[in-house]
Amino acid sequence: MAAFSYICDSVAVITMSNPPVNALSSALIRAVQKAVEEAIGDFAVEAIVIRGDKGKFSAGADIREFNRLERGPPLVSLIDLIEDSKKPVVAAIEGVALGGGLELALGCHYRIAHAQAYVGLPEVLLGLVPAAGGALRLPRLIGISATLSMITTGKYVQAREALKLGIVDKVVGENTVDEAIQLAKKVIGQPLGSRQLSTLPVQCPPNVEAFLDEAMVKVKKQFRGAQSPLACVEVLRAAVQLPYLEGKKKERELFQFLYTTDQTRAQQYAFFAEREVAKWTLPSGASWKTASPQPIRTAAVIGLGTMGRSIVTSLAKAKIPVIALEQDKKQLDIGSKAVMSLLDREILKMEQLGHTEFTNSLGPVQFTLDYGKLRDVDIVIEAVFENMALKKEIFRHLSGICKPEAFLCTNTSGLDIDEMASVTNRPQMVIGTHFFSPAHIMKLLEVVHGHYTSSTTISTAMRLAKMLGKVGVLVGNCPSFVGNRLMRLYVEQAVFLVEEGSKPEEIDRALEDFGLAMGPFRMMDLAGLDIGWKARTEIGLTGPKLPIGTPARQRGSKRYSPLPDILCEKGRFGQKSGQGWYKYEKSGGRNAMPDPWLYNFLSEYQRIHNLKTHYVTQEEIIERCLYVLINEGFKVLEDGIASGPEDIDVIYNNGYGWPKYTGGPMYYASIVGLPVVLTKLEKYYGANPDIPDLKPSSFLKKLVSKGNPPLKEWRSHLGFQSSML
Ligand code: NAD
Repeated sequence: MAAFSYICDSVAVITMSNPPVNALSSALIRAVQKAVEEAIGDFAVEAIVIRGDKGKFSAGADIREFNRLERGPPLVSLIDLIEDSKKPVVAAIEGVALGGGLELALGCHYRIAHAQAYVGLPEVLLGLVPAAGGALRLPRLIGISATLSMITTGKYVQAREALKLGIVDKVVGENTVDEAIQLAKKVIGQPLGSRQLSTLPVQCPPNVEAFLDEAMVKVKKQFRGAQSPLACVEVLRAAVQLPYLEGKKKERELFQFLYTTDQTRAQQYAFFAEREVAKWTLPSGASWKTASPQPIRTAAVIGLGTMGRSIVTSLAKAKIPVIALEQDKKQLDIGSKAVMSLLDREILKMEQLGHTEFTNSLGPVQFTLDYGKLRDVDIVIEAVFENMALKKEIFRHLSGICKPEAFLCTNTSGLDIDEMASVTNRPQMVIGTHFFSPAHIMKLLEVVHGHYTSSTTISTAMRLAKMLGKVGVLVGNCPSFVGNRLMRLYVEQAVFLVEEGSKPEEIDRALEDFGLAMGPFRMMDLAGLDIGWKARTEIGLTGPKLPIGTPARQRGSKRYSPLPDILCEKGRFGQKSGQGWYKYEKSGGRNAMPDPWLYNFLSEYQRIHNLKTHYVTQEEIIERCLYVLINEGFKVLEDGIASGPEDIDVIYNNGYGWPKYTGGPMYYASIVGLPVVLTKLEKYYGANPDIPDLKPSSFLKKLVSKGNPPLKEWRSHLGFQSSML
C-alpha cells in the first residue's frame, strides 16, 4: 500500500501504491499516515519525500469507496499531520495529482512536478467541492482568482502552468523523485512557517467581497442550474472571511450538503456511465476485453469542410500524422488555410498555458489532391457532403487504393453504414465515426457499428476515440444513429409549440433554464437552417419532389411543420444570413434578438392554416420537448441501437449540451419517475394524435408495468434478439 520505503542520506521516501492511479482509499491513507508518523519519529530521518508508485502521484479519492465518502475523508488529518511536521516534506508529482491527490500535495511544504504531470481539483465535476482543505490552501498559495477558475471548472493544469501559477515550486524533465530528494536535503533545517499554507493569509484582490459577488453572478450564468460551482464560490468566501479552522468547518458542511443532493448523485452516475460505455459488448460475445485494436500510426481525412478541417486538427493534436485530401485545388487551398489557422489557434492556446513543447508535438499534416498518397495510411475518415452516391463512390475508390489492413470510416450524420460498406472490398473494416462540431473540441465520438463491422474494427475506432481524448460510444446503424435521431424529434416538438402559440425565445428560455446549453431555436440558427432544409428537400419532404396536393402540415399520417422550410425560402438561414428564428446585428452575428417580423409572420401563418393557439406553459415546453426525446430513447433501446441507457446519457452529456447534473435524459426520466413520464406522454399524445412520436414506447410501458425498476436494471428487461449492435 504505502511504504516508508527507504532512507536516502536522511531523506525518507514514502511511496503511495494503489494501482492503477494510487487512489486515496481509506487503506492507503492509513498506510501513508503510518509511514509519515514513522518517518517523523525516526531520528535518522531529517526530511520526507512523498511520491506515487508507477509514475502517478495520485488521482484523488478512491471511486470504489464513493458510497462511503459521506463519513468524510480521513485524508484531512493526514494532510494536517504532514503540514505540521517539523521535518520538511516534499511532494514528487509525476503523472497526476488530482482532487485529494493535489490536496495532499498542498499539505506538503514543497512540490516538484514532472513536466508531463497534471494537477487539478476536479471535485466540481462530481457535483462536490474539495473537502480536504484544497479550496482553503490553494487561494493562500495562488490567490482567489486563479483558484476560482480552477475549482469551479475542475480543469486540469499541466505542470508548466502550475509553475506559473505558483502551485508547484519546480518542474523537471526527468528524475522527479531524485530532484525531490535533492530539494528535501537542501531545505533541511530551514524554517517551514512560510510553507505551511493553512497558516498564511489568503491572497485577495483589493475589493474581495465585490469580486466574490461578481464571481457568483458569472458562475450562475456559466453553469446555469448547477449547484456545486456555486458552492465552490461559497468555500472561497469562507476562505476569505473565516480563519482557516472555521473555513474548514464550512468546507465540510458544504461538502456534506452537496453529497446528499440529487445533482451530485446524477453527476456521479454520469461519471461512472462514461467509464461503463467504454466496456462495449456485442450479443455475439465479442467485447472490449477480447477484441484487440490495431495500431493507428497514420490517418487520412477526405473533405476539408466544416467537419474535415476540425477532424484533421483533432488528429494532429493527438500527434497522429494526417494526410488531408480535397476534391480540387480551390477547396484544398481554402481547407488547408482553415486547418493551419485552427492549428495556430491551438498552438497559441497551449503557449499561453506555458506548453512550449506542444508546437513540436503536433502530428504533421500533409495536404493533397492525390488519392495515391493514401496507399499506406492505417485509417481513412471520409467527411465529404452528406450524399450517399458521393460517399459510395469514394468508398469504392478507397477500396482499390488503400492497403488491405486500412480501416475505412465515415463521418456521416446518419446515412446507412452498410450501404457504404457494401461497395468496398472490406465491409468488415468499415465503420461510422460520427464526430461533433467542432471536432477538435467536442468530446463525443459516436462509433457506428454496421452489420458487417468486425470487433477489431470497433475496438480500433474506440481506441481512436481515446487517442483523441474523446468519449467513444458504440451505437448501432439506423437513420441518424442515436444522438441526431432523438434530437430531431425534440426540435420538431419545439417547432410545433411555436405553431401552437409559443415564441422561440420562450421555448429557448424554458429549456436553457432547465440547463441545456442552448435552446433549440438558437441552436438551429447557429447550425444553419438551410442544412435541414436541403436534407428535407433531397428526401422529398419539401421542394420539387413533394407530390402535388400534399397537405402543407401533414406528411403521411403525421403532423409536419413547414415553418423552417418557409423561413429558408425567405432566405432566413439563421446566424449566417443575419436572420432566422431570431434576427442578428449582421450576417454572421451572434447576438440573437427577438424579431417582430417573425411575430407578424407567425400570426399570418396561424391565420392561413386556421390554427387555434393556446398559452403554452413552461411546464408543457419542457415536458413535450424532453419527453418526446426520452420516449425515442426508449425506442432506441428497444431497437437495440444503444445497448443501455448509459450510452444515450453519455451521448447527450458530451455531444448535445445536456446538463450533466441531471445525469442525461434517461437518468433524468428515472428521477422524474417512469410512471410520470408515461402518464404525461399519454396525455400529450391524447391531445395531439397526429404526433405519433408522443405515443409512449412499448419499452417504457413495459418498465412501468414491471414496477418502475431502477435505471441499472433496465438492460435486464431488454430482449437481446433485436440488438443491432
Ligand atoms: P461541408 O460541406 O462543410 O464540407 C464537405 C467538404 O467535402 C467540402 O470541402 C468539399 O469540397 C469536400 N468534398 C466533396 N466531394 C469531395 C471529394 N470527392 N473528394 C474530396 N473532397 C470532397 O460538409 P461538413 O459539414 O463538413 O459535413 C461533412 C460530413 O460530416 C457530412 O457527412 C455531414 O453530414 C457530417 N457531419 C456534419 C456535421 C456538422 O455539424 N457540419 C456534424 C457531424 C457530421
